[in-house]
Amino acid sequence: MIHCSGQVIQATLSFLRAAGEQNSECVVLWLGRPGREGTSVVECYRPHQLARADRFQIPVQGMDMLRAKLRSERLMVAAQVHSHPQDAFHSKADDAWAIVRHEGALSLVVPRFARDTFPENFLAQTKVYRFSNAATWDEVPGERWVQECLRII
Ligand SMILES: [Zn+2]
Repeated sequence: MIHCSGQVIQATLSFLRAAGEQNSECVVLWLGRPGREGTSVVECYRPHQLARADRFQIPVQGMDMLRAKLRSERLMVAAQVHSHPQDAFHSKADDAWAIVRHEGALSLVVPRFARDTFPENFLAQTKVYRFSNAATWDEVPGERWVQECLRII
């Protein structure tokens, strides 16, 4: 279970919307610390990235910066969140480029560059995928992920 505050969601949507205004996708990472009740997200981090209208990549340098930050602040990537120009889904490129790859990791996709997504309708608009023990990204239906994966605090 991932616990995430409304402020983190707000910050996430601001990043996605700003990139969308430049007609570009954007990926942000929810960094957190594991605890007894699950992982608490403490920061919404925008990694150094190369993004276009339909994809994003994190170059080696961006991954190095991310790893250094995780090490020095003792954080882990709880989830990644990225925007799409239109519908939310997990593309082949998303499968291949996913930064988080541990079992139970979440990948969230926000439609329409987050133009009309707000903390209030975040749960309804976003598609959530969970990395399985068979190394596949499986969509988690809305009613289940509210119970099993993500709690907004
Ligand atoms: Zn995508």
